[in-house]
Amino acid sequence: MPRSYVAEARRKKVAPKKERIRPVIDRLAAEHADAKIALTYSNPLELLISVMLSAQTTDVNVNRVTEKLFVKYRKPEDYLAVPPEELERDIFATGFFRQKARSLRGTMAMLLTDFDGQVPSRLEELVRLPGVARKTANVVAAELGEPQGIVVDTHVRRLSQRLGLTKQEDPVKIERDLMKIVPREDWGRFPHLLIWHGRRVCLARLPRCEECVLNDFCPSSRV
Ligand code: SF4
Repeated sequence: MPRSYVAEARRKKVAPKKERIRPVIDRLAAEHADAKIALTYSNPLELLISVMLSAQTTDVNVNRVTEKLFVKYRKPEDYLAVPPEELERDIFATGFFRQKARSLRGTMAMLLTDFDGQVPSRLEELVRLPGVARKTANVVAAELGEPQGIVVDTHVRRLSQRLGLTKQEDPVKIERDLMKIVPREDWGRFPHLLIWHGRRVCLARLPRCEECVLNDFCPSSRV
């Protein structure tokens, strides 16, 4: 179980989360106007593959691998046309390469048989693809302009707990809490805002509360 930040939200008394959520989003949007997905892709297929490869590694690492990968593999058929070992070699640097190659091949096969070779944007269809879990599906759907949930990664979990938006530990329950208070039109950008704030200001070990635009709204603020 990863470290919990729920207890930190007992430091300071603040308004109920439903009242704070709008200004939280607006201030973060003003602060991180450049917040967006860090993976490089130019079409839905590249997006899906990048997100699948990003499990257990950094976005920088994925971008380094896909820069060459997407020149060699352009359509679903291309991933099935090479021997599995060749695909494994081509994605080796992203880690867990055997499992990822297996998922990629399974997904490409299903795209061809069930989806005319196109990447679906509905969550319930995305999660049918081999190796595509809810988080991956949420990221892809949101990037395709149809967010149907809220992506919960390590930053979203930590900031949601510190901001007192959830007391849950499990990502699915955290997502459920967030979906109740975050306006639907913000489901896509909300995780990006928290992720960028988490990387720049609300760091895991030592949050920079004194320079945080949310410090008067945050029950975990140290200032
Ligand atoms: S950095 Fe901001 S969001 Fe994080 S704990 Fe401090 S005040 Fe709260």
